[in-house]
Amino acid sequence: MAERRKFKKRYCRYCEQKVEFIDYKDLNLLKFSLSERFKIMPRRLTGNCKRHQEMVTVAIKRARQTALIPYIVDRKNVIDNPFDLIR
Ligand SMILES: [Zn+2]
Repeated sequence: MAERRKFKKRYCRYCEQKVEFIDYKDLNLLKFSLSERFKIMPRRLTGNCKRHQEMVTVAIKRARQTALIPYIVDRKNVIDNPFDLIR
């Protein structure tokens, strides 16, 4: 429920910033669509358009393969903002 509140406004953030291509190395773009446990947020919560959601999905899966994003997060290791560790 807390996650739902974060995404109250429903618009595509990538369309708003006029993103044409989502790079898997650009974690600042990817984190709009990642939950706090690094899961890909569904479109109905983020409000992304279909075109960008597909790009995000591919990019996140690539980022996982290159170990930029973990596949799973342990229940004990849940952090409020995991991107603080990366930066
Ligand atoms: Zn879009």
